[in-house]
Amino acid sequence: MVTAIEKIKLIKEGKLTCEQNIKQLLANIEKDNQKGKKINAILHLNPRAVEEARVIDEKIKKKVKVGKLAGLGIIVKSNICVKNLIANCASKTLENYKCPYDARVIEKIKQEDGIILGMANMDEFAAGASGENSAFGITKNPASLERIPGGSSSGSAASVAAGFCDLALGSDTGGSIRNPASHCGVVGFKPSYGAVSRYGLIDLAMSLDQIGAITRDVKDAELLFEIISGVDEKDAASQEIKPKKPIQKKLIIGIPKVGANPKILNLISKKVEEVCKKNKWDTKNIEIKNIDLGIQTYYPINYVEFFSGTRKFDGRRFGLKIEDSCGKEVLRRIIGGSEISQEEFAGRYYKKALDAKKLLTEEFEKAFKSVDLIVIPAVPRLPHKFGEKISLIDMYNYDTLTVLANIAEIAAISVPCGKIQDVPVGLQLMAPRGSDWMLLEASEKFE
Ligand code: GLN
Repeated sequence: MVTAIEKIKLIKEGKLTCEQNIKQLLANIEKDNQKGKKINAILHLNPRAVEEARVIDEKIKKKVKVGKLAGLGIIVKSNICVKNLIANCASKTLENYKCPYDARVIEKIKQEDGIILGMANMDEFAAGASGENSAFGITKNPASLERIPGGSSSGSAASVAAGFCDLALGSDTGGSIRNPASHCGVVGFKPSYGAVSRYGLIDLAMSLDQIGAITRDVKDAELLFEIISGVDEKDAASQEIKPKKPIQKKLIIGIPKVGANPKILNLISKKVEEVCKKNKWDTKNIEIKNIDLGIQTYYPINYVEFFSGTRKFDGRRFGLKIEDSCGKEVLRRIIGGSEISQEEFAGRYYKKALDAKKLLTEEFEKAFKSVDLIVIPAVPRLPHKFGEKISLIDMYNYDTLTVLANIAEIAAISVPCGKIQDVPVGLQLMAPRGSDWMLLEASEKFE
């Protein structure tokens, strides 16, 4: 499949018009989203997409300068606001919620003449790791149709894998960009905390969430990240990151011990060996204390912040009252979050989890004193098949290796690393907070 960067070249050389590109993507969606393979990755289309493409073609014809994304079709996770489109977070609670404004990332994409094609299916309110928690039906994995695509940015990753779009946006609280990217065989990049504005994101847990790119390759992720990143006065957590500059040193790749399917570990270690040999990089076995405490740290924070965030869905301001209209997993988090944030439990759960978060952050900082990057699998197991019953613990454990980067506020990416039983497997690289460009450049070598 053609990458976004290759498409831009074709458009520039006059070999492809924006209109042709958008019409082709819409035809792919028409063929396999609801019909054909029934991927069900997209909830709403932008009815003006073709018209918008024509406007850009007109500009090109008249030799008016166009933006860096001119004519590319972009699919957006349904929890990121796009003016006049529906962002319902795949929930009945917000079923008909039409956004009154553009999220900062969308504003930036539009400034660069990117075309929003539509809104992607997802786990309801981004709570989930399989794509099965949507109120509007499961999404299929285009790389392995009988298996889950991963989540919660299920529709965004599936759209890239199925050829429904050139680029996609997802959000990642504990793995929701990297996990589906890994299962669908595409690239998923979670930037450092604060590197991309969250203004206009309907977040799951504010201290963990980041918007990021899901793309066909790392270069495409760089293209989108360059546009959406940057400090924004509307997001108090947004921060400057280190500027882009070529890596000039020999990198040291840190390898901590983690639990995962041995076949996955084997695939990853072979790839690391190969890449390090080729680039004359070093590897180093490292220990990160309490690396196995990610899930226990992540969930209390997630539950409490989500509960607090959902108080605005009271049936008066937006949509329906959430408790009356949401699915099982969302309700579990509301009840759980309300319970553990009661005054009588003060200091027992949320506060403890915040202490553990600080501890893990320090452990990663320590590790990055002796290595440049850390490598582990993105997901410790293969995605399950539809209909397979899996326990809540197993479901939560899908994210044991991705939550770490959100907890430590660092940058992380999942890059396709091969297949096991015909199912894609992602290799995860992590870099210190703010070293996003170094991470991206190094990741290119793993493709
Ligand atoms: N699967 C995790 C959860 O359910 C992560 C979700 C996410 O990153 N949005 O919370």
